[in-house]
Order: sequence, then structure tokens, then C-alpha cells
Amino acid sequence: MGGPHAVVVGGGIGGLAAALALHRGGWRVTVCERAAEPREVGAGLTLMANALRGLDALGLGPAVRRDGHAETPGGIRTSTGRWLSRVDGAQMTRLLGTTALGVHRTTLHRLLREALPPGALHTSTEVLDVVTGPADAEVRYRRDGAPQTLRADLVVGADGLNSAVRARLWPQSPPPAYAGSTAWRAAIEWPAPLPAAISWGPGAEFGMVPLGDGQVYWYGAVNAPPGGHAADELVAVREHFGGWHDPIPALLAATPPGAVLRNDILHLATPLPSYVRGRVALLGDAAHAMTPNLGQGACQAIEDAVVLGAVCAGGADGVPAALAAYDRQRRPRSQAIARAAHRTGRYGQQLRNPLAVAARDTLLRLTPARAALRGMARYADWQPPIAGQG
Ligand SMILES: Cc1cc2nc3c(=O)[nH]c(=O)nc-3n(C[C@H](O)[C@H](O)[C@H](O)COP(=O)(O)OP(=O)(O)OC[C@H]3O[C@@H](n4cnc5c(N)ncnc54)[C@H](O)[C@@H]3O)c2cc1C
Repeated sequence: MGGPHAVVVGGGIGGLAAALALHRGGWRVTVCERAAEPREVGAGLTLMANALRGLDALGLGPAVRRDGHAETPGGIRTSTGRWLSRVDGAQMTRLLGTTALGVHRTTLHRLLREALPPGALHTSTEVLDVVTGPADAEVRYRRDGAPQTLRADLVVGADGLNSAVRARLWPQSPPPAYAGSTAWRAAIEWPAPLPAAISWGPGAEFGMVPLGDGQVYWYGAVNAPPGGHAADELVAVREHFGGWHDPIPALLAATPPGAVLRNDILHLATPLPSYVRGRVALLGDAAHAMTPNLGQGACQAIEDAVVLGAVCAGGADGVPAALAAYDRQRRPRSQAIARAAHRTGRYGQQLRNPLAVAARDTLLRLTPARAALRGMARYADWQPPIAGQG
């Protein structure tokens, strides 16, 4: 087996997309995934136009559009159901050339996995350390309890929020910080049509996204101290959102208790000074874990992957220059989006003060639909680079 060799640490959406982008550029790829089962947990996902364009560049656009659900009209409501701002899917398509899409995470993960060459994904493979030199890098990992090593021309640290690669090679970087909110989410059977919408109450947000195939993804987030757990998380969600507008109580009633996931929201509050060290590049949440308030975390991971594939198309010799170009192209944009997501959370889901909530809601109601749409489209308007461009 010839060709330059890339080891991707982490088989989440970012890692698999990076492996696919590199594979399409002529790289031999090995994905090391710690989990025994190749699956993506966490219910549904909204993919904005930027992610769809990225998936188009990876050859997966038609399959994702086939298996996901093009977003229906939606917008932002209050907890009583009053519309504050509406988004028209057709207008969004006119503006961006493609709409947003709701997709089950498992579906996207499967499509990415299936597009990789057989044998590329190694499960039950936990990376312990990465050492990088000027000419190559070494990945130390444990498989079936035995320590082993792999040589690579390029290592991609796509191992998520609590990245071991980041901790090892960016030791000065502070660990992820709690952003002040906890979130529940579930994907459920729901055959009736539904808008893709979010609703805001004081210090709380509930969102619903049709996924296609008679499924809907919902999430609820509230301000809370970190580390909270309930004996029954569905009961906890009902306590917060059971009295909100229709169809939220019905969505919760249709949710099996075992389907509810709960995560505290953490982010990289201190932006990294570089996404690159030697022959190692960080990508996705490992590089820029952000709060979910713009629905851009996975979208940015897909952008990272596509850009990495494009700049590395020259093979192993060009890696240092390619990674410098990757850092230049990806860090400013992804960190700006992470900052914007955090801001959106503070003025959206987290806002509690009644006067501030009333002022925000009035402002939203008075904002013309076209301006609201342009605001939403701002981060989604991205074009994949041409392969080989640095
Ligand atoms: C409530 C919530 C809602 C969200 N909604 C959206 C949304 O609508 N749209 C959107 O774009 N984003 C959304 N996000 C963000 C999105 O989930 C993440 O940004 C995205 O999943 C990051 O992907 P990743 O591949 O970088 O990391 P991960 O998905 O965390 O994958 C990392 C992988 O690395 C593996 N791993 C970890 N350590 C090691 C190791 N040492 N060795 C080997 N493998 C390892 C893990 O097992 C995992 O499979 C949301 C996030 C949350 C919390």
C-alpha cells in the first residue's frame, strides 16, 4: 500500500469527514476510534448550507439530502408560541443556493463510514500519545489492551471536546469550560409535519427539527449549575418545558424515557493560538469546541475536513506548507463562529432578566424578515476551496 499515510484520531463526524477528504486526495487513511462500536450518539443535527456544500465536495451531498429532511419554514418563538421571527426555507434556498437540513446523526455517520475504503476505521483503538517531528509523526495507541505504534506523514486530532491530542501537544491550552447551560435531546418517531423552530423562555430554549423518515429531533437547554443529573431525565425536561406551547408537551409525551440524552454544554473558552503543531492538525471540537447556539459545531468540523483535504492534496512533501494554509484558512473563521455562538447563547437561551428578554423579543419582532434571514445566513455562506489551493 503506497501513498502518503494519514492517521486520524477520532471517528466522529469530523474525523470521518477528514479521512474521506484525505482519501479522495490520494492519501492512505487510518482512523483510530476509541469506542468499540462505530456510531455517533446524540440524536439529530442541523446541517446548514456550509456543511451541505462541504458534503457536496466530499461526494455525499445527494445521499445526505436523500436521507435527511430539508428544513420546513420555521423561526423563533416565545415559550407561549408567539412568533418573534420567521424563516422561509424557500427564501433561504434562494439566498444560499441550498436550504438547511435536519439529519439523524447515526445516518450522517453511516454515510461517512460507508464512503471510506474498507478497513480504514479501527474501533476499540485508543490513542494515548502523538509525537511529531519535521519529517513524520508517530501515534501511540492501545488496541485489545496492547500498546502499539503507527507512523504517519500527517496526524489529524479529531478526538473531540476532551481531545487527548490537544492535551498532549497544546499543554498550555486550558481545558474546556462550562458555558452555564445543560441540554437534553432526543430523536423520536413523529409522523406529523412540524416547523424547524426554536422557542425561548427566560434562561431556557426548546428546539425541534424534522429529520425525515417520520422522525423529529428535539432539544431543551436551561441555565443550570454544572454536573446535574436527574433520576429520570425525561421528568426533568417535562418540569422545564411541559407547560410550553404546542406541540412541545406532545413531543415530550411521545418520547421514550431511555431516548433522552443529557449533556452539560462546554466549550473552548480560550481560543487556540494555532491548530497546527509539526505534522499534527486539530479539527472539529478538538480545535474549536463551541456552544451549540448557532448549530455550527459539526458544520465547522465538516468545513475543516474539506479544507484539510484540499490543502493536503499535494501529498506528504507539502505537509508543513499545507498545514500552515489550513491554520490560516480555518482558525479565524471557526473561532469567530465560536465567539458568535457563545454571544447568541447569552442573548438567546441564557437571557433571564425580564426587561432584557422583553427588549430582545421586541427587537426580534421588529427586525424585517429579510434582515433576519441575512443574519442567519451569515455563517452558513461558505464555499469549499478548489483542491490544491493554499
Ligand atoms: C446539545 C448539542 C446540540 C448540537 N447541535 C448541533 C447542530 O445542530 N449542528 C451542528 O453542526 N453541531 C451541533 N452540535 C455540535 C456537534 O455535536 C459537534 O461539534 C460535533 O459532533 C463535533 O464532532 P467531532 O468529530 O469534532 O467530535 P466528536 O463527535 O466528539 O468525535 C470525537 C471522536 O473521537 C473519539 N475519541 C476521543 N478520544 C479518543 C482517543 N484518545 N483515541 C481515539 N478516539 C478518541 C470519540 O470516541 C469520538 O468518536 C451540537 C452539540 C450539542 C452538545
